[in-house]
Amino acid sequence: MAQKVQRVKGVNDILPLEAKQWQALEHIVKQVMDRYAFGEIRPPIFEKTELFARGVGEDTDIVSKEMYSFSDMSKSSLTLRPELTAGVVRSYIQNNLQQISPVQKLWYEGPMFRQERPQKGRYRQFWQFGAEAIGSPNPEQDAEMIALFYAILKELGIEKSVTLKINSIGDGESRALYRSALQEFLRPHLSLLSETSQKRFESNPLRILDSKAPNDKDLVKDAPKIRECLNDASATHYAEVLKMLEAMDIPYVQDDLLVRGLDYYTHTIFEFTSNALGAQDAICGGGRYNDLIKELGGQDVPAIGWASGIERLLLVVDELQPLKTDSGLDLFLIVQGEDIRVKAPKLIHEWRSAGLNCDLDTLRRSMKAQMREANRQEARYVAILGEEEFDQGVVQLKNFETGEQEAVSFNDVVSTIKKALSS
Ligand code: ATP
Ligand code: MG
Repeated sequence: MAQKVQRVKGVNDILPLEAKQWQALEHIVKQVMDRYAFGEIRPPIFEKTELFARGVGEDTDIVSKEMYSFSDMSKSSLTLRPELTAGVVRSYIQNNLQQISPVQKLWYEGPMFRQERPQKGRYRQFWQFGAEAIGSPNPEQDAEMIALFYAILKELGIEKSVTLKINSIGDGESRALYRSALQEFLRPHLSLLSETSQKRFESNPLRILDSKAPNDKDLVKDAPKIRECLNDASATHYAEVLKMLEAMDIPYVQDDLLVRGLDYYTHTIFEFTSNALGAQDAICGGGRYNDLIKELGGQDVPAIGWASGIERLLLVVDELQPLKTDSGLDLFLIVQGEDIRVKAPKLIHEWRSAGLNCDLDTLRRSMKAQMREANRQEARYVAILGEEEFDQGVVQLKNFETGEQEAVSFNDVVSTIKKALSS
């Protein structure tokens, strides 16, 4: 036997049964996006490496160690997208989307790629859906973005077991102030910090706040808080966001240590976490990124966005409130007799053309085996067709749930089933 090829480490096959859960989730996401007036965007899966280096930031985990980069025939360095904010912003700039409307509300879904250590809830190819609102600097846009994800959680029925953590890292002026305050606080303990944090002390001290190293965690507990360093404009913006969340009954917890891993954030940042997950408990992360568009060569346009990991979200859903899916198969046609086998395809073709989801056996198996297959596929109806039925132009239509059975003429099969299914 030829040797089997195994899938690459850290990626998943989503098989049909599981795909039903994905489709149910995607259906909800799409509906909620429509309700909030977000339009879908589908940027490419790979981009120039430079986009992520500049757009996500050289100092981030993603760019410094997680990217799948390769060069193509023209020797340009390309990268499989590790996230989509940079790609959406590139697309926004390149396609002059601001000319269509000064506020662009966009959503996306698709696979992302990061070379991380695979474990439950952490993969090398994983899926995200996300949303970006580009154009408005105002707190109502922040509140709308958060409400948008909260609405999806509500539709999934899991909003009560999810925590919204929120913080503000303010504008540039506030962050500069805080940076100094934090460095001043940490300086006497510099040698106690982890190696990574020592490196970040100059380049990006805020990231020390979300270090996972126990020593660092102990130290930063008593560090000054960003909130206390916000200038008036930043503090007002943040307070208004919180006020609007309260008005919309969206519970939140302020988390002074939340800084998020990406370099591009300003003002409001947030994360949704679930206690139904283990260590990988973040199901959504986002924030405002007022400087990114300018940094990527566009105009000075403010924006805010978030992204949610579908595999993790489905782990929570699975644990707490599995999504309702149905088999989708309306009818299984059971065929008896050699002659009938060659006549059945035309019949089922007509029913399918009329919009019925139906199937039949192509292995020429016994009645019993066909019945078993209909059962396995959870068909709502079976139609039994033998020589005698064929001569009379009917099938024995059996409702799998009630067991009721009646002879129905070929022409009436579709209408009979459709009527029954709609009632
Ligand atoms: P984490 O802290 O768990 O590494 P992150 O801050 O790197 O998350 P983001 O870049 O903000 O994550 O991505 C948004 C969401 O995408 C996360 O909240 C998570 O649900 C999901 N996600 C991120 N990385 C992975 C991964 N490797 N596998 C599966 N899902 C992921
Ligand atoms: Mg990460």
